[in-house]
Amino acid sequence: MSETHDAIWKIGNETWSQLPGAGFRPHSIAGRALPVQQPDADFAFGARHCASCTPTRYFPPAFKFCTDCGGALVNAASAMQWLPPYGSGSITRNYTPQPAAPIPNIERLLASPRTAGPDIETGLARMPLPDRGGLTLFVGPFGGYRDALFAVSRSGGLWLWARRLSRWLALKPAAAPLGPLSLPSSFCNFAAIRAAQGPGDCLLLPADAGPTLLQIDAQRGEYSVTVGAGHALGGAAVLSGNAFMPVNVDGRLHLATLGSDKASWRNIASQIDLPASVYFAPPLIDDNNRRMVWISEAGFLEAQLPSASSLRVQWTAWPEQGRALLAFGPPYRDGTGDWQLLFSPQREAAHQDACFYQRLQPGSSAAKPVMMPRVSTGSRCFHYSVPVRAPWDKIDEARYGDQRRVFCPLMELDEKELIIGFLSVENYDEPLMDFFASHDAQLVDFCFLDSSGRYHPIARRKMEEPWHASVFFHDDALWLYLDSTAELLRWSCT
Ligand SMILES: [Zn+2]
Repeated sequence: MSETHDAIWKIGNETWSQLPGAGFRPHSIAGRALPVQQPDADFAFGARHCASCTPTRYFPPAFKFCTDCGGALVNAASAMQWLPPYGSGSITRNYTPQPAAPIPNIERLLASPRTAGPDIETGLARMPLPDRGGLTLFVGPFGGYRDALFAVSRSGGLWLWARRLSRWLALKPAAAPLGPLSLPSSFCNFAAIRAAQGPGDCLLLPADAGPTLLQIDAQRGEYSVTVGAGHALGGAAVLSGNAFMPVNVDGRLHLATLGSDKASWRNIASQIDLPASVYFAPPLIDDNNRRMVWISEAGFLEAQLPSASSLRVQWTAWPEQGRALLAFGPPYRDGTGDWQLLFSPQREAAHQDACFYQRLQPGSSAAKPVMMPRVSTGSRCFHYSVPVRAPWDKIDEARYGDQRRVFCPLMELDEKELIIGFLSVENYDEPLMDFFASHDAQLVDFCFLDSSGRYHPIARRKMEEPWHASVFFHDDALWLYLDSTAELLRWSCT
């Protein structure tokens, strides 16, 4: 009996093993053997696959035809990018897909009969997590040729989801490790820029040690970081290809920006003394007016780039001792501008409506008081679970006055006219602000809201702070990460 050996092909500085009847596997790069547990070859090596043969088999990028069936090889389709906390990396929870990145056929989930009973979790798969909670998950072509799923922990651990192995692979630092990211998840937003070298994109992260550029080398299972000076206060805004991140340097605001080589940071100082412990929600980027706005509980920061060489930065404290209610969602955008929800103890003491929406324009006094704050995606708002057009619209008290189930939208899908969020199972009889300030466990249904106003539950949980959840699409599936229960749920859409 003769022993069979894999044939080895040398292509450039890579060698590939040919697996009889099963395609190819990268074997070594630049003379260095690759581990057996590798990331997916189409992501990390640009491997092509045969559209006719199943199961999927991979071939070196230089190959044009399948060695088994002779069929034409294709590149992996790229790429959906899904950056925390709101998917597109923008401030709103409203997601409009790019034509190249269609959302999976999630209507399938709605078509299968589901009730809040035992069949609520039809089709749900529980996926492993690389750590016990405290994670941020994101999707994109980071260090590779198509999109892949990654997880980063608050302490700076970084993992890649290997789809074919169904497991997480830890990425190792090539030199200095990624430090802790301790901004609360609603402040910890990521931005992406094209990598200066290698395939795919790299990430900009607001790390405790400073503004951080993270470059992943998926082939080696490694990453490297470039850290600037100062303590990061919020995520980066990318405007006209330039990245800006607010940082604190000795109590003063600086904007850290990446050099043109994308290999170093430099700081642009301002004269703004920051209030203590200020952090910024994801930036609002206005390309037309070359303007970036970062919102904090205490006020907002506006930066304008009238020309490539000048930058104007302005800090505006909220009026009437207002405090921004960031858990209720991003600012509401209408034809007149962006409106941020504030709470004013000064108004409350004067027996006025304590909540109001303030226009995000330095010097603007435009404000709209409301009886009760509304939860918003940025374009759709809810009074408990009753949709309202604008957050200051009144509801029909006779019809909806006793409606007290809380709906919190996590993601609005424009094209599908669907909202994914959670709905409290019971009425909530306390003020709505207490719901989002509470650390008590709540019984909620994660669900879709369709265009006819019907809720379709897909998972029920009793959990604390259910708003610390993230929804994303990857690998033809809908995924839901629940931070408080440390669960990763997946619904296949194929
Ligand atoms: Zn084939």
